Amino acid sequence: MVWRIIDLKKLLVLLTVLLCLCGCTPKHEHTWTEATCEEPRKCSECGETEGEALGHEWVEATCIAPKTCTRCGKTEGEALGHSVPTLSCTEGGKCERCGKEVEALGHLTPNLSCTTGDTCQRCGEEFEPLGHEPGEETKKEIKKATCTEKGSYQLEVYCTR
Ligand SMILES: [Zn+2]
Ligand SMILES: [Zn+2]
Ligand SMILES: [Zn+2]
Ligand SMILES: [Zn+2]
Ligand SMILES: [Zn+2]
Repeated sequence: MVWRIIDLKKLLVLLTVLLCLCGCTPKHEHTWTEATCEEPRKCSECGETEGEALGHEWVEATCIAPKTCTRCGKTEGEALGHSVPTLSCTEGGKCERCGKEVEALGHLTPNLSCTTGDTCQRCGEEFEPLGHEPGEETKKEIKKATCTEKGSYQLEVYCTR
């Protein structure tokens, strides 16, 4: 009989140890960081989460800004751009959406230079070469004057284009 009692005691001790292992995880006050658009409230120490993410507060895209979340500033897609039906190389107009005055686009002639003409890639208008735009004359000495000989210089004019 004595043996049995001892066994029982051992068992009790064992049980209490086991209980302690699974039940006594150290408790702490959660340190919550506020929920964001994409993440729920979260304890910065143990990583436990509570509730749900807030979700983005979208404001629709405008002419100059893409769809934007007012809370976190995240954007989606692109700005719409102004909608000006009369807009061309030479004519501006008012944006149908926001009313902003938009300037004429100007001709698209990337190859136009002093000596090369070009055709506008937008409206097809042809352009003659621009011709040179003379800058200021600069004197370039060719020969230094000496005691016996006159010096000479040359005038140089560079194109400013
Ligand atoms: Zn925690
Ligand atoms: Zn957001
Ligand atoms: Zn607009
Ligand atoms: Zn044009
Ligand atoms: Zn030139």
